Amino acid sequence: MNTPISQELPTPGNPLQLTGSETLVCPCGCGRPYVVSGGSIHYGEQREVEFEPAFVSHSETDRHLWLALITGPWRDDDAGECWVFVHGLPQENGVAGRIEDVAASPWGGLPLGGRAIPREEVLANPAARDWVLERFNEVMQYHPDVAPFIYREEQS
Ligand SMILES: [Zn+2]
Repeated sequence: MNTPISQELPTPGNPLQLTGSETLVCPCGCGRPYVVSGGSIHYGEQREVEFEPAFVSHSETDRHLWLALITGPWRDDDAGECWVFVHGLPQENGVAGRIEDVAASPWGGLPLGGRAIPREEVLANPAARDWVLERFNEVMQYHPDVAPFIYREEQS
């Protein structure tokens, strides 16, 4: 008999390991619910980073794929986790990611349990910026909820 593949392990070729999700109310004032899920991204030589994608629509017609990456310390005086935020906007052929401050993100009013890295601090470090956008692209490519969210039928 075949041994069942553990769901704890990512499937081959898919670097994402998914955990649960929850539904929150958009903080922008539109009052619409949005889903935040969790998981970790496996990359490099046995490295991993936690991530939270948020699937936000302020109206029937728009789509925002927000991503938070929960990393280790960035500076010597960082005691614990650091959070980086990327705003994904669907384009003709993919999703364009833009690193943003926490205040612009759905996490703006939420307790983080770590330091939010400002956009300028990420951009000042090209290697870190590239790393963040690589992880963003992996989530866009491999997360099973991304394509259905972008291409879902609009409710009428
Ligand atoms: Zn909203």
